[in-house]
Amino acid sequence: MLNRAFRLRRRPEGALAEGDLELVEEEIGELAAGQALVRNQLLSLDPTNRIWMSDIRGYMPPVPIDAVMRGLGIGEVVESKRDDMPVGALVNGFVGWQEYCLVDDALLEAPLAVLPDPLPGPKPAFLGALGHTGVTAYLGVDFADVKEGETVVVSAACGAVGSVAGQLAKARGARAVGIAGGEEKCRHAVETLGFDACVDHKAGDWRAQLDAATPDGIDVDFENVGGPIMDHILMRLNIGARISLCGMIAEYNTYSHGSGGAGLQNIGQLIMQRATIQGFLVLDHAARFEEAIGYLAGLLGEGKLHYDETIVEGGLQAAPDALDQLFTGANMGKLLVRICAD
Ligand code: NDP
Repeated sequence: MLNRAFRLRRRPEGALAEGDLELVEEEIGELAAGQALVRNQLLSLDPTNRIWMSDIRGYMPPVPIDAVMRGLGIGEVVESKRDDMPVGALVNGFVGWQEYCLVDDALLEAPLAVLPDPLPGPKPAFLGALGHTGVTAYLGVDFADVKEGETVVVSAACGAVGSVAGQLAKARGARAVGIAGGEEKCRHAVETLGFDACVDHKAGDWRAQLDAATPDGIDVDFENVGGPIMDHILMRLNIGARISLCGMIAEYNTYSHGSGGAGLQNIGQLIMQRATIQGFLVLDHAARFEEAIGYLAGLLGEGKLHYDETIVEGGLQAAPDALDQLFTGANMGKLLVRICAD
């Protein structure tokens, strides 16, 4: 039996390029006691995939050269010598950029979670609105303590995290202003996701658009992007503003060796406005997943949460090209690759 896997051969300089990853075919041996074999079905593409490829000071070690690329996904147990993972069970976690994942406590970076049977929602949602990106949105809104009547700005507003964060801010009675790339996404943010306004960061006058959309300043910044967008947001913070620093995707392709990022010009505004900034990682908050997913599933059931998915067909080999969608903005909502049919 053969596995196909992407191994990291070289650390990217800039965007992921051909030759950085290699698609290899490898023999799958007999299972030993305590092992299980998972056939991966859906691979989650996340901006952090690009971080993991760089040897920067990250929150997880970089993917070692020649190792299978790290990635989250959902798969089905197809063979098992473990009591906790029967054949047919669906599992979620670090399954890697490969067709089959060998479950072995000594080899995996983190245990895979067995999903409930029957699944209380559509499978892809457990990598999106009811998975790690939905929980990220929930945590970031909670940490910023978003209150009724406040102005909340959300960058990457039509993305997996941002689209949910905006709706959660609205559910708390805030005024939500999105920032997204292009007219179509901005229209979607307002008409479908319920943002009060959306700024097109690809338009030449985006700074003026952001000023006009935040006449009373900004109380909370749910920051997904960094770079010049965050710099302008800093100039519009109100006294006592809070920033939930979720991500800085505008910088990730500049991470190569050491650290990266162009730096922010206006960081001093945190002092002037007595503002607070909190970086956070969803992986640190496993203890709150149940609470967060319960809340999100409740909103979904009441028809109060809309989510989008971009599912790339074409199997595992489509993953490297598809990753670029996150950096060009071609994705709408959660970006996934279908590795095989159910
Ligand atoms: P998205 O689905 O939001 O996709 C990324 C989006 O970012 C793109 O669609 C694009 O949208 C926008 N974008 C990319 N480059 C730029 C740029 N240079 N300037 C402005 N916008 C840009 O991804 P996710 O929802 O998965 O992730 C969003 C952010 O959240 C990322 O920064 C990610 O690292 C972070 N994250 C953090 C977690 C944590 O635990 N802290 C967990 C999960 C995600 P557009 O078309 O609008 O430009």
